[in-house]
Amino acid sequence: MINLSQYSAIFIANWKLNGNFTFLKEYYDKLKVSSNNCTVICPPSIYLNSIKTNKENLYTGAQDVSFYNEGAYTGELSASMLKENGIDFCLVGHSERRQYFRETNESIKIKCENLLRENMIPVVCIGETLEQKENKLTEEILFTQIKKSIPNIANNKNSIIAYEPVWAIGTGLTPTLDEINSVHELIKNFNSKFKNFKVLYGGSVKSTNSKDINSLKHVDGCLIGGASLKVDEFNTIIS
Ligand code: PEP
Repeated sequence: MINLSQYSAIFIANWKLNGNFTFLKEYYDKLKVSSNNCTVICPPSIYLNSIKTNKENLYTGAQDVSFYNEGAYTGELSASMLKENGIDFCLVGHSERRQYFRETNESIKIKCENLLRENMIPVVCIGETLEQKENKLTEEILFTQIKKSIPNIANNKNSIIAYEPVWAIGTGLTPTLDEINSVHELIKNFNSKFKNFKVLYGGSVKSTNSKDINSLKHVDGCLIGGASLKVDEFNTIIS
C-alpha cells in the first residue's frame, strides 16, 4: 500500500463522466506532478487502464466500486478487479452517488471494507447539504457519516477522508477558510483514531483559492472536480 505519510499534500482529480482518448493524451502530456505531493487521477472506469502512471507520485483512482465481490451484478466492478488492474485509490460515497444512486452510509462502509481487503485506499466523501448547514446540523451530519460509513479497520495509513460540503460542489461557492479549517479540525478530533487522518477538502477548488485552502493547518490536500478537467488549471493547483 502507498505510504501516505510521505506526502505533504494529496490532490485527487475527479473527472466524473468526462474525457476521451484525445483528452487523456493531451492531459497526460501536459500534466506536471510535483515530487512532494501525491496526485491521483480518477477517470471514468473504462479509461482507468489508459492513465499511464509512469510519472513518479502519480496514481489512478476509481470513482466507485461495487458493494459486491462477484456474481450476477450486471455493470459492476469489484474491488479485486480494480486491484488487479493496478488501481490504488477509490472514491467512496461521493455526494453525487449518495444523491443519484441512493448510496447509504451502510453500503459505503461495505465498499470501504471491500477496498481495504484488497489493500486499496478508500477516499470516503462526507459533507452536509446547504439546508443542513443552515440548520446548524453540520457536526451531527458529519459525525453520523463518519460513524456509519467508515469501518473499524480503517486507519490513517489505509484510508482518506474528503470533506465536501454538498452545496460547494460544482457551484463556485466555498465555505470561508476559517470554516474549512475548523470543520477539518472537528473531523480529526472526532476521536483519537482520526487525529492523524489525511483529510482533503473538496468543493469548487480552483487555481485562485487552492493555495489558501492548502495552507490551512488541518487541510491535507484537495479533491477537485471541474477544475481538474483543465490541465493547466490542475497543474497550478498541484504545484
Ligand atoms: C467533486 O465532484 O468532488 C468536486 C469537488 O467538484 P468541484 O470541484 O467541481 O466542485
